[in-house]
Amino acid sequence: MAPLGRPRGCSSLSLALLLLFEIVSFQPFATGLLLTTKEQDVVNRFQEYLKFDTVHPSPSYYPVTEFLIGQGKQIGLDTKVVEYVQGKPVILFTWKGTEPSLPSILLNSHTDVVPVEHAYWKHPPFAAKMDEGGNIYARGSQDMKCVGMQYLEAIRNLIAAGFKPQRTIHVSFVPDEEVGGGDGAKLFYESSDFKELNVGFVLDEGLASENGNYRVFYAERTVWWFQITAAGHPGHGSRLFDGMALENLRHSLNAIAEFRKSQFDKVKSGEKAEGEVTSVNNVYLTAGTPTPTGFVMNMQPSHAEAGFDMRVTPLADVDALEKRFHEEWAPASRNLTYRFVQKGKVTDNFGKPAITAVDDSNPWWVMFKEAIAKAGGTLAKPEIFMAATDGRYARKQGIPVLGFSPMTNTPVLLHDHNEFLNVKEYLKGIKVYEQILRTCTGPKDETGDTSNSKAGSGVLSETIHTEL
Ligand SMILES: [Zn+2]
Repeated sequence: MAPLGRPRGCSSLSLALLLLFEIVSFQPFATGLLLTTKEQDVVNRFQEYLKFDTVHPSPSYYPVTEFLIGQGKQIGLDTKVVEYVQGKPVILFTWKGTEPSLPSILLNSHTDVVPVEHAYWKHPPFAAKMDEGGNIYARGSQDMKCVGMQYLEAIRNLIAAGFKPQRTIHVSFVPDEEVGGGDGAKLFYESSDFKELNVGFVLDEGLASENGNYRVFYAERTVWWFQITAAGHPGHGSRLFDGMALENLRHSLNAIAEFRKSQFDKVKSGEKAEGEVTSVNNVYLTAGTPTPTGFVMNMQPSHAEAGFDMRVTPLADVDALEKRFHEEWAPASRNLTYRFVQKGKVTDNFGKPAITAVDDSNPWWVMFKEAIAKAGGTLAKPEIFMAATDGRYARKQGIPVLGFSPMTNTPVLLHDHNEFLNVKEYLKGIKVYEQILRTCTGPKDETGDTSNSKAGSGVLSETIHTEL
């Protein structure tokens, strides 16, 4: 709220009235924010986690690891810390189930955060300040320190309530997600430590929802970064030649722009969601013969290059896409070559699309959906994540993964200035995770829910774990 200016020559009575007005006008916020002592403790722990400086390019992982180990101990979880790359700890907590032979559940989150531009923040990004409306400002408040702490708080509450899961629950905190996860989740999911966990289902990050429905993600687009290089006849700037490098490259740019338009049109018309199409954007162009003050103006260069960021939807026909490179985008006949800077696999390790089923064929999905309903929430139509998360490393192994960050009525502020999460959403999210764990890890509850026992009967292990 903007401060009220003190009117010139204002009397002490009118000043008192003004102050009273201010106090009264804050009341609705203030009353809405009354937290119980227990809630205040929960919020304090969240704020404490947010204050750790785990920001790239040099995240400080050891202090936050110590803090998290302390949390695990307090709750009573088994703890393991592994460094697949020195200085980049993966923290693993385990709450053993009463039937540990059943496939377990893994709750994953990352401890690192993206950089900040301090000048654009209204509160310091590592102070975790809560404003009068209950918004907690911090880098990582949405992406994704909220989720990591909510997992632990949900477990803390379930233990206090005397709940005993049938399935074992694991909670992992991994480093370096924001720089690709190569030294974090990738090595963890490929390790023998992970195989020993017998994980049947993974929850990882999603996105905030700007309306009242929770968003859930069942797949991700795959990164293909590529460069196209054009060669051509160099020559005087005055000459009209066929097959100049820049002209050749322009053909490529036009063809790729056409493809981009065809994909974008499907989004604009509402036929497809953004994650269901393949995006491609030109991110740089380079050509010309440089001089100390600019470029030579009377020379047509012999080389030109363009770079592209493409995100391939798992629904794409990859063979047809590959064909475009040879035939339309970079045909050798026009002196064009291409090179991938990064090219992820669209399929999992078994050659199947890396997609988690979101229908009745997947008992985990059935339980998850049920849990959200029991928690009083509603789900939006499941989506494909537009960018990459650590979840892809688990999907590669054929394990069902849902991307889910329980935040409704919240602007999407990941990687943005003034990232915040409201305390009420944060507390509500803990209840949602409690319900997810109750429903997905059993035992069968008094309402006659049978979906968990179905997954526990071996149906799931036959369909999913035979692939591991
Ligand atoms: Zn994230």
